[in-house]
Amino acid sequence: MSDCIFCRIIQKTASAHIVYQDEDVTAFHDIHPAAPTHILVVPNRHIASIGQVTPQDAALLGKLLVVARQVAEQAGVGNHFRLVVNNGRQAGQSVFHLHIHVLGGRSFTWPPG
Ligand code: 5GP
Ligand code: ZN
Repeated sequence: MSDCIFCRIIQKTASAHIVYQDEDVTAFHDIHPAAPTHILVVPNRHIASIGQVTPQDAALLGKLLVVARQVAEQAGVGNHFRLVVNNGRQAGQSVFHLHIHVLGGRSFTWPPG
């Protein structure tokens, strides 16, 4: 999808600091970090949100979590990090290409706002 910023980052027609990429998954630094480590892990295939996934996506979703764990490790926050997936505008989703936020390097409170 050429109008999707994350598709453009995956295809390298938009710039980002990519820390991991394979045939299924890309991970890159968030442009407005909400923590010292803030990486987004996204499927290379355009899926608008977690609300759109089907049982056929199970392996891909599992891989996103594995990559999230690996990039947290790589960033040096492997012991304490938070994964966030916002679904829908009211839940804070602003980019409609599924992504897992990997946040680390500081303390977090619960519940989130
Ligand atoms: P959401 O609000 O949808 O859960 O998260 C979207 C995230 O994407 C936000 O944290 C925002 O800072 C990040 N973001 C939006 N546009 C860009 C961009 O062009 N490049 C990068 N690297 N991150 C972006
Ligand atoms: Zn996309």
